[in-house]
Amino acid sequence: MIQIANDVFQISVMPRQLINAYLVGSTLIDAGIKTSGGTILRQIGNRPLTAHALTHAHSDHQGASAEICKKLGIPYCVGAKDVPVAESGRIAETMPNPHHPVLAFEQKYWEGPSHPVDRALREGDKVEDFVIIETPGHSAGHICFWRERDGVLIAGDVLRNVNFFTTMPELGEPPSIFTPDPQENRKSIKKIAALKPQVVCFGHGPALRDPQKIFEFAKRTG
Ligand SMILES: [Zn+2]
Repeated sequence: MIQIANDVFQISVMPRQLINAYLVGSTLIDAGIKTSGGTILRQIGNRPLTAHALTHAHSDHQGASAEICKKLGIPYCVGAKDVPVAESGRIAETMPNPHHPVLAFEQKYWEGPSHPVDRALREGDKVEDFVIIETPGHSAGHICFWRERDGVLIAGDVLRNVNFFTTMPELGEPPSIFTPDPQENRKSIKKIAALKPQVVCFGHGPALRDPQKIFEFAKRTG
């Protein structure tokens, strides 16, 4: 694990921080792909885990969710509008092209089983000392976790900080094949930029400590 801020650790489940989960207090945010359970629990080690939350119910974030919630008997907390997908497992059906070959690959090798949700998260709810910010677009129920005190934002996939071809850090919008509503997601980018986050933690790529860069990016993506 890499410590990002007070009580915030990044758990990388793939090399080069291609896919990340986070430990915030005793809550696990996101859970990689379906084979990530072991590596996540190993990295967390002896630290207590009392809840598991998702930024959004896509296969590279909910992969090991069911396994970890069942194994530890902890509640599953998901953005209200992503609850039906988290519980049904019908992720592909929410995508712009449900039959895209990359999606079929992810469904086969990445996606974890569905799992009943214990807590639906909405704007203003609290998880640990973070506040929920609803940021739809990449999924209907996508949420971010925001701590104003030190400006830490767990941003999920509203933005990415990696070029998926070169694997080098690069700020960008999430890939369109996985984003049902790119226009709505752009509004969400502006919403998080307006918070002026000091540290942004992404689902994909290394954390970014440059509020100006986020601000400029939001301005560019009209
Ligand atoms: Zn993702």
